[in-house]
This record gives sequence, structure tokens and C-alpha cells, in this order.
Amino acid sequence: MPQPLACGRNGRIFNFPRLEAVGMKAGRILRLKASDLIRLPPGSEIFVLPRRLPVAYDPAAKNFIQDNKHFAAAAFLSPGYTVTYNGAYKEMAISRALPLFSYAACSFYKGEIYVTAVRVDKSLCHDSRFMDMRLVRKNAAGLKKLFTKNRLVRHLENCALSYGCPNAKNFFLSKYEAPLPTSPACNAQCLGCISYQPKTNRRAAQPRIEFIPTPEEIAEIALFHIENVEKPVVSFGQGCEGEPLLCVDTIKNAIKLIRARTSKGVINMNTNGSDAGAISKIFDAGLDSIRVSLNSAREIYYKRYYKPRGYSFKDVLKSINTAKKRRGFVSINYLTMPGFTDSEDEFAVFKKFVAKNKIDMIQWRNLNYDPLRYFEELKISVDTSKMLGVKEVISYLQKEFPYLKMGYFNVSK
Ligand code: SF4
Repeated sequence: MPQPLACGRNGRIFNFPRLEAVGMKAGRILRLKASDLIRLPPGSEIFVLPRRLPVAYDPAAKNFIQDNKHFAAAAFLSPGYTVTYNGAYKEMAISRALPLFSYAACSFYKGEIYVTAVRVDKSLCHDSRFMDMRLVRKNAAGLKKLFTKNRLVRHLENCALSYGCPNAKNFFLSKYEAPLPTSPACNAQCLGCISYQPKTNRRAAQPRIEFIPTPEEIAEIALFHIENVEKPVVSFGQGCEGEPLLCVDTIKNAIKLIRARTSKGVINMNTNGSDAGAISKIFDAGLDSIRVSLNSAREIYYKRYYKPRGYSFKDVLKSINTAKKRRGFVSINYLTMPGFTDSEDEFAVFKKFVAKNKIDMIQWRNLNYDPLRYFEELKISVDTSKMLGVKEVISYLQKEFPYLKMGYFNVSK
């Protein structure tokens, strides 16, 4: 029986042997089965949830109970793992919104910490155990000397060393995917934007890039990465920037410079897909793939989360269509929230969306947002008796669309 975990006010974690751990979806507390749990993945962290009271199931009394002496605990998982239940808690009257992370239920089971999650990607590309920070620092210093005038090298050094960005670290380690941040502006106002939160009391996790690099600066970085990595990916649209489509001409010219030198590697763009015309121009220049972010396949919830300015959900669909017509590889960055993503209503629409738009890949990324506030702020009401399960939804889609790639990271050729 998985036992609940809770935190003392000093941050110590306790387990409660006579009680059963529970999870939460859409504010509903649910009992967990052993099959819902996996061992805490390496590189994950346990958080104390301040001013939130832990909840558990008491098998002797056959009811859910609340603990008023401790704070709730939850796990922030390493990339590659998707949360299937949120940690369960009751807010105290004075609770403020949780910071921009995801919160998996955690428990004590078989002498170890277990969490409610499913592994969706076997790649180790963001695994911190294989990122030698001494080498990152050494290579960053070396690259600053090699590319003395390139402002992106300095920007990426800050991303890697101050903000722990895995893609920036991988650039300095010449591995996997390298970031090409370009755009300081955005035409959306996502509730959970990690780089810009001006009117809220939430902290942006990574500050936005403050300049637009030249095509030459971008190409220099991209070519260095492509030439030194076996299966390289270089990507526009990073956590430290706004929307890359707003810098379409710079990006188009940068891609032309890269493709004039090499056909190796994947040039990818992570985007909100707001401008099909810009997507078309960039594919003409040599873009290989796009990853479009969506929290929902339903316009109403898309709009409430993204708050788009000057574009609509239809434009996003048009961009996907344009990329497919250009034979581009299209991934969906499906921002997953247990209780919403696996609700019958969302899944019914998402399944049709995948089929109709011939999506190539779904990246099951955790939506980093306060799990209760998400439902409140998007005015989502779900029938909690009709939740399918995140794991079940993923395997159903895989059976229905065998060609569909499931994962967490952008893929190389
Ligand atoms: S589209 Fe990206 S950069 Fe723009 S507001 Fe949303 S998360 Fe932030």
C-alpha cells in the first residue's frame, strides 16, 4: 500500500504507515493503485506545498482525511515523464498560487519514493546525470573566445549556468538539440509563460532574450552545433524567448545561411503557430519541423490559456496544415494537466484533431501551473466520473494511430 508523504514546516518529509496515498485530478481526491506508480525518476525533486494541507485515505475509517499539522508534498519530475495525477491537498484560506511547476502525487512505497507518472520518452538528452557542468563552463569560456562577437553565445552561457536550461547545456556539450533563441516579443499571453509574467505575482523562470540576433550570429551557432554532433537538432522557440514567428525575416535568412553550408541535421521551430504565412516562408527557406504548443484541442480553452493577440485558433490550424503541405514534420507540444487532458470531452476532440491534421508526434509535456487554479481560471468544469486516465489516453492513441510518435523531446533525423 503506497503511504502518503507530507512535509514538516522545517521541510522534513514524513511517511504515514497506516494511511494510503492519494492523488488529485480537477480538484477531486482519488485513491491510487500500485499500477499508477513508478519509482521517482532520477533528477526529480520533492517540493513542499506551502499553506496546503495533505490529504490521505484512512482504510480503517474508510474515508479521506486531512492533516492540519503538516504541509502537502508533491514531485517535480525530470523531463521525459508525464504526470498522471497531481499531488492531493486542500488549500488553506491564505494560499497563494503555486509557482510555475508541475506537481505529481508522491508516496512512500516498497521503501522508496514513488510518483504518479508515465515515462513517455527514453531519450536521456535532458538527464542531468549526464551533463558535466565543469565541461559546460569550460566549453562556454572556450566558445566565447572562438566567437568573440556573437551575442548568442553569451546569452546561452547565462541560460546554461544561471537558469539550468538543458538545451543550452547540450549546446556547450555538443550533444542533441541546441537552442536558437531569437524573439524578444510574443503575440500570446499564456497564463503559464515561463519568460514573461508582468502583471501577476508569479515569477518568470527564465528572462526573455532582449535583442534580436543577426542571421549571421544564429547561423554561426547552428553550424557549430550541426558540424559537431552526430544527429543534431537546432531549434528556434525556446523558454527564454517570445514567439519566433514574429522574427520571420531574421529566421528565414539564418536558415538560408545554414542550408547554404550543410543539409545535415534538423532545423526545428517551437511555435504557437499563429501565422501560416510566416510558416510558409520559413519552410521555403529550409525548415524541417515545427512543434506547436496546445493546452487543448478546443478553441474555448485554448483562448483562455493562450490569450492570443491578433490571431485565432483557426490560424494555428492553418499553420499546421501549411507545414504538412510542405512535408514538414509536425509535433504537438500537448501541455498535459491530469483531469483535463484525460477528460472524455477533451480526448474526443483531441483524437479527431490528431486524425484530421495528420499529426506526426505528440510531446506529452507537463503543464507547469497550479493544478487547482488552472481549472478555476480556465472555467473548466469536468465530469470527474468520466476521466479516462493519462496513461490510458496515450496508449489508446498509439493503438488508434500506430504511425504517431509519442515522446517528450524533438527528434532528429
Ligand atoms: S507563446 Fe510562448 S512565449 Fe508566448 S506567451 Fe505563450 S509561453 Fe510565453
